[in-house]
Amino acid sequence: MDVLSLTRMPSFLKPEIPNCTSQCKRSLGHSSHVRVSTRFHRQLALTHKVLDEIPLSDTFAWNNLIHTHLSNRDPGGALSIYHHMMMRGACPDRRTLPRVLTASRICGDLFLGKQLHGQAIKLGFFDEHYVITALIEIYGRLDGIEAGKWLFDKSPRRNSVAWTMILKLYLMENKPDLAINVFYQMVELNARIDSVVLITAAGACGLLKSVEHGRRVHDVARKFRLESDILVSNSLLKMHIDCQRMEDARGFFNQMTTKDVISWTEIICGYVKKGEFNEALKLFRKMNMDGIKPDSLSVSSVLPACARTVAHKNGKEIHGYSLRNGMDNNLIVQNATTDMYAKSGLVDYALKVFERMKKRDVISWTVMILGFSLHGKGELGVELFCRMEKDQRVEADQFTYAAVLHCCTAACMVEEGKFYFNCIKEPNITHYALMVSLLARACLFDEARAFMEEHHIERHAEVLRALLDGCWMHHRRNIGKQVFEQLCDLEPLDAENYVLLSNWYSDNGKWDLVDKLRETIMSMGSKPKKAYSWIEFQNKVHVFGTGDISHPRSERIYTELQCLMKKVNAEAQRPASGFSFHGVDAERECIQIGHSEMLALSFGLICTQPGATIRITKNLRMCRGCHDSTKLVSKIVEREIIIKDPNCFHHFKDGFCSCRDFW
Ligand SMILES: [Zn+2]
Ligand SMILES: [Zn+2]
Repeated sequence: MDVLSLTRMPSFLKPEIPNCTSQCKRSLGHSSHVRVSTRFHRQLALTHKVLDEIPLSDTFAWNNLIHTHLSNRDPGGALSIYHHMMMRGACPDRRTLPRVLTASRICGDLFLGKQLHGQAIKLGFFDEHYVITALIEIYGRLDGIEAGKWLFDKSPRRNSVAWTMILKLYLMENKPDLAINVFYQMVELNARIDSVVLITAAGACGLLKSVEHGRRVHDVARKFRLESDILVSNSLLKMHIDCQRMEDARGFFNQMTTKDVISWTEIICGYVKKGEFNEALKLFRKMNMDGIKPDSLSVSSVLPACARTVAHKNGKEIHGYSLRNGMDNNLIVQNATTDMYAKSGLVDYALKVFERMKKRDVISWTVMILGFSLHGKGELGVELFCRMEKDQRVEADQFTYAAVLHCCTAACMVEEGKFYFNCIKEPNITHYALMVSLLARACLFDEARAFMEEHHIERHAEVLRALLDGCWMHHRRNIGKQVFEQLCDLEPLDAENYVLLSNWYSDNGKWDLVDKLRETIMSMGSKPKKAYSWIEFQNKVHVFGTGDISHPRSERIYTELQCLMKKVNAEAQRPASGFSFHGVDAERECIQIGHSEMLALSFGLICTQPGATIRITKNLRMCRGCHDSTKLVSKIVEREIIIKDPNCFHHFKDGFCSCRDFW
């Protein structure tokens, strides 16, 4: 679950700040705003005294007052000035109406909008550009795009501002395909193409994720020589990234003659989203070298990359940078830093950052609660949730509830889980799946089934997989088999399900069935995902695949591992079993010691000082065999071993794992 991505929404959907460009929003500090508005209100009180003294004919003065209220986010004040003006019998001019229309739109007053429409016709302002655009906007926003479009079609003159308004309205109604059609109409009719309309069209292509439209819009930008406008080029860059064309985006980025902090942040973000974390980090460094100073958005964009590479010192380095550059009180940066530490396996550091925060929002709490669940500290997560509930300023949202349910699952706290589930106003499928997972892990299979029937969620793969996890943990073969059949029935073409089944068989040593399934998987044209583990040593990341013999120190790694497994088997008093199928091609005997995490572990033991903690990352879930062995290894070598798999962090120490064998 990526809570942080929620903070990014398309800019045109964000609440608007009148007369404030996005560049100015970035730089405007909250406190400066407060200062401005207090001064403004003092001035305003004085101004009101003189309202009655404004000469009726001085429309300029009235307009100015309305404008000042609007710019200070006080549409109600603007409307009251307008009423005052009307009461005194002053006459509005072509500049008055658009402003009053904007104020009534912000106040959501369509009725007043319609009255103003009548007034515009009466006063003969209906063919004024600004009046028409303001009317299109108020109808479009408050009465639906069709009403706005109708007015647009009827309007005697259409300028590019009105065209752009129609595009924006379609985007607001989440109809990017219609928006892009309007853009093509504009091009066809030779309407003036300016940077604003291009930026809007690029936004539409991004939402559509359409490479073809994206390229056409880019061609139009080139034709009208708008590419060199930094706002346009940034939006084209974002468009290529949103269309998942990183190569196009990178090519264009490299060509851009001017790049600002937004361009760099955009491309870094793109690589993070694509999972190319090392490239994101490289670009962040290059940005610094090119003399562009990262801002809080760039820092919070690159932090997720640090959490996902093994080299967690990158994260510390960037945290240090944010401290040195006075971003330590920036909420977005603090949330991203907490998340980065929690996901880098340094949950104590995450807690330190969290505790030092002067202000916390719902994301801060959610990130920390989830962090605890990732590290098998479910009880602490539930405690933190209770602490959050006492804070009147924050209200739990669906993600916070999912995080606390994760904690209940990790700590097997069934009653608490049920309590929190009942608090959720509109539970979604993730919440249901988490509840099923909790009940199944607690071995309450009948209750889990009853829960699924009660909520009609038996035919959801996510829910079935949650139930299956429980069956796997508690060795419930019969139920497991039924669930598998249901799952394969639901998603007959998803090879991952067959991989799960083959892991199940290999857990039970049924190698003939594993082989058969493997043929099925191959014949479906998909190969099971290959397993890899990473470990960092001396600033270099060492990657191991299953049965990998490509490492220069392979011989020593295998000898060490064989020796270790002898000790493990002696300690366990039985040979370790339960090794899963990860597409290993070598002989089966190699499997026991050939899993990538075991190779990385052996390498870590050889290379590091006795007593040092070993940190490994794996791309697939750990199998039971490796998990059991690693527990014993931690006891034999007296070291803490931390293995991160896609589900959680396993902290192995003294023969136990923090996940309590539930993962
Ligand atoms: Zn394994
Ligand atoms: Zn574990």
